[in-house]
Amino acid sequence: MSAHHHERTRRRVGGDDCAADVIVVGAGPAGSTAATHLARAGLDVLVLEKAEFPREKVCGDGLTPRAVKQLIDLGVDTRPEAGWLHNRGLRVYGAGMSVDLDWPDLTSFPPYGMVRPRRDFDQLLADHARAAGARVQERTSVAGALTDERTGRVVGVEARRGPEREPVTYRAPLVIACDGVGARTALSRGIDRRDDRPLGVAVRRYYTSPKSTDDYLETHLELTDGRGGLLPGYGWVFGMGDGTANVGLGILDRTNAVAGANYRATLRTWCDSLPEEWGLREENAVNEIGGAALPMGFNRTPVYRDGLLLVGDAGGMVNSFNGEGIAYAMQSAALAAEAVVQALARPEGPSRERALAGYPEAVRAELASYYRLGNRFAHALRHPWLVQATARHGLPRRRVMAFLLKLLANLHDRRDGDASDRLLEVLLRLTPALPEAVPSAPSRPSRRPGPTRPAVGKGTAA
Ligand SMILES: Cc1cc2nc3c(=O)[nH]c(=O)nc-3n(C[C@H](O)[C@H](O)[C@H](O)COP(=O)(O)OP(=O)(O)OC[C@H]3O[C@@H](n4cnc5c(N)ncnc54)[C@H](O)[C@@H]3O)c2cc1C
Repeated sequence: MSAHHHERTRRRVGGDDCAADVIVVGAGPAGSTAATHLARAGLDVLVLEKAEFPREKVCGDGLTPRAVKQLIDLGVDTRPEAGWLHNRGLRVYGAGMSVDLDWPDLTSFPPYGMVRPRRDFDQLLADHARAAGARVQERTSVAGALTDERTGRVVGVEARRGPEREPVTYRAPLVIACDGVGARTALSRGIDRRDDRPLGVAVRRYYTSPKSTDDYLETHLELTDGRGGLLPGYGWVFGMGDGTANVGLGILDRTNAVAGANYRATLRTWCDSLPEEWGLREENAVNEIGGAALPMGFNRTPVYRDGLLLVGDAGGMVNSFNGEGIAYAMQSAALAAEAVVQALARPEGPSRERALAGYPEAVRAELASYYRLGNRFAHALRHPWLVQATARHGLPRRRVMAFLLKLLANLHDRRDGDASDRLLEVLLRLTPALPEAVPSAPSRPSRRPGPTRPAVGKGTAA
């Protein structure tokens, strides 16, 4: 243990201790993952969550092998006996055909995906963080970051606690914002969404359906707007194993094609177009349609500045190829935790800052090329004929589809893989050299400037 560990005071008295080594805002997959890793490293972690578990989160509930890997890393028991419904792969529909693609056999990822309702999943992860020693405090809504006026650094958060919404100030030398797409903490510091990066919208609903026990996650490449036009996005049917299926669609926003679109109506129209025997009809719906934005391709940067780290949806880390966000929320949380553990073992000042700069650098090393490629893909989706052509020519060719699955789900071995892995790796290596498909404005001035301006560029994720 370092001297700094000994210096740290553990103030865990009563329930109203308001200081910690690290504050984590939000107990979604990002927050609970960060908290678990930090608590295991011996830090006093305080997680502030506005909701009370169990709670819903609008989601497709689908976990690819990438997300399963993160769960395994965290020490979560992912066997079916522990309540997880495994799946074998992805079934892709398009151009009047369908193909079942098994998850690839890789060194880096397990060969199965899973589903679990978020109501259950998020509580399980929060309990996991508690078991590791983190203090997870529910019904505490963070209003914004607390800033030291002299140094301009984030030194905690202002929050409202309990049913009375009592104002409380919490202090810590570092704050990790895991508060999802709303990104309240980042916004309070003037870190806005970048509008040169993609933003999606997704809606979903549960239906009682024979699809419930399907071994494959299902995706439908051709979504129509009801008037025969193609939309830039895809539909999904994920069997939940409990008699219901999670059915939804994700669409890239900010395209002329969907301006002013009514996504709920689109979901209904699409469901009506699916085979009657799947049962995805109004009378079998078990809830109302819910929807939320998908912040993609690092659309909020910088992910570290002045004592504040952005993780998961708060940092815009949804994969723009496929709308997957849980795996990336958990992966970025693990990287943030690693940087924070190293930082807090150093004295305050330049050395500690160097350790913290390791977070955006790690995120960039792991994901930036892939996300840049994804952002180009999202841009290309504005031409739906491209998707149609890919479906028509790709679906009959299993090897092409197996390659596309690896690309779209970000599943390949970076070293010692097969020919398709090597091809993907070459593609990723070449990507940073390619011109940006979307005009980039990395140092766009913020509408709500914080006390210090970020040095975007080095230290920015993508
Ligand atoms: C319709 C839909 C379908 C999707 N389907 C999938 C899918 O199948 N697979 C997949 O991997 N991803 C999917 N995603 C994306 C996925 O839901 C997100 O990427 C993921 O939840 C991000 O995790 P997070 O922990 O960053 O944020 P969140 O899961 O949003 O968690 C944020 C937490 O912070 C809390 N919080 C927010 N504000 C405050 C505050 N001010 N103070 C305190 N607490 C606060 C919230 O209550 C919440 O618990 C889907 C998204 C949508 C909208």
